[in-house]
Amino acid sequence: MTRIAIIGGGASGLAAGITAVRNGASVAVFEQNDSLGKKILSTGNGRCNLTNLNMGSENYRGDDSEFIQEFLDGFGVSEAMDFFASVGIFIKYRGDYVYPLSDQASTVRDALVMELHRLGADVRKNCHVEEIRKGKKGFLIFCAGEPSLYRADKVILAAGSKASRIAGSDGSGYALAEGLGHHLSPVVPALVQLISDKKCLKRLAGIRITAQVSLYVDGQITAKDTGELQLTDYGISGIPVFQVSRYAAKALNRKQRVMAEIDFAPFLTTEDLMEELLRRQRLWKRCAAEKLLNTIFPSKLIPVLLSEAGIERQIWGEKLSGKQLGKLAAVCKRFLVPVSDTKPFSDAQVCAGGVRTDEVCPCTMESKLVKGLYLTGELLDVDGICGGYNLHFAWGSGIRAGRHAAVKNAL
Ligand SMILES: Cc1cc2nc3c(=O)[nH]c(=O)nc-3n(C[C@H](O)[C@H](O)[C@H](O)COP(=O)(O)OP(=O)(O)OC[C@H]3O[C@@H](n4cnc5c(N)ncnc54)[C@H](O)[C@@H]3O)c2cc1C
Repeated sequence: MTRIAIIGGGASGLAAGITAVRNGASVAVFEQNDSLGKKILSTGNGRCNLTNLNMGSENYRGDDSEFIQEFLDGFGVSEAMDFFASVGIFIKYRGDYVYPLSDQASTVRDALVMELHRLGADVRKNCHVEEIRKGKKGFLIFCAGEPSLYRADKVILAAGSKASRIAGSDGSGYALAEGLGHHLSPVVPALVQLISDKKCLKRLAGIRITAQVSLYVDGQITAKDTGELQLTDYGISGIPVFQVSRYAAKALNRKQRVMAEIDFAPFLTTEDLMEELLRRQRLWKRCAAEKLLNTIFPSKLIPVLLSEAGIERQIWGEKLSGKQLGKLAAVCKRFLVPVSDTKPFSDAQVCAGGVRTDEVCPCTMESKLVKGLYLTGELLDVDGICGGYNLHFAWGSGIRAGRHAAVKNAL
């Protein structure tokens, strides 16, 4: 029987463990926390967005798009659903987003842990793996907890990233992978808030508005997304910011210039907005300029838009020239926020970067450098957008690694 050591009892480690035992292997899971699957509990605001019906490589980023395409060719939504059904996770949908029927992430974690125990896997909690060595006859695993030394035929490294405040997200898996000869693409926070020192943001803190966020790196548009934007005293947040944040983080890491351009009226073209401003100017002759934007934008935002356009808020609207109205429309559609940093790893949902995927086979998750070593989940240079894509990759890469590692002749 193949002895497999799984380092990390999170989403991908649990999926790997269950699959490996089901395929006839003897499995030991090493988890440094006092319980398994802690991060799963926080996913999807406690509801766990398991996967997404709209599955495709365009929802993933990383240096190697072919890797993710090959991965998805073998692990799509139906394979994920089969796995959920096999561990007793009933599901429901919100649009394309897939959740457990219970709407509780804890029930997903419990289902996976129960199945792992039912199958008789050896689970070692409070056990921090410090080093992994490849010997002639398999692997030696050195732990801080008991037992301090463990021998395995194969290792599945499922240690996750260093994103989030959740205990265990310490990034120690990167050092373990590097210790075995792997290389990293720079690791930066992703799905994270962006920091700006633009002064007026402090006055705008608390505003939530549907907007389009376009990200420019050294003047080139790099990513954009539309959704509920949150303006905060430190910068910008919300789903559209999360979706573009990994490009900002990567660029800042390369010391490039990053600018977020906010379109506060994505439902109107600049011409439509201009036409509406002109119409209001004609109709409301004796009203202050700030009223021209009334009902289109939150009232807290209006003085800031006028000030950015260089217009006094109390000036009568009729006094504004066509050029001034044009400037105002442009500011509403292209409000510039220079980005100086991202929030730290502890605030991020995932990491971008990680173990280079050209060193890993997408069909088996086996290392191309070290035979018998498998790498899964967020440890790899694969990050998905919000919507269940990161967990989808964690389940799928874990299942693949578990299945392949369990096959004896794959040694
Ligand atoms: C707040 C939040 C919400 C999220 N919501 C969603 C969502 O709704 N949908 C979605 O798709 N994704 C979501 N994600 C992302 C998703 O949770 C992760 O991508 C996924 O959990 C990664 O799985 P993993 O197995 O690679 O890593 P993890 O789940 O982080 O598991 C790694 C495990 O390895 C252990 N470990 C690390 N190093 C060692 C060591 N040296 N020795 C022993 N054990 C070790 C850690 O303690 C941890 O338990 C969210 C993330 C966060 C932070």
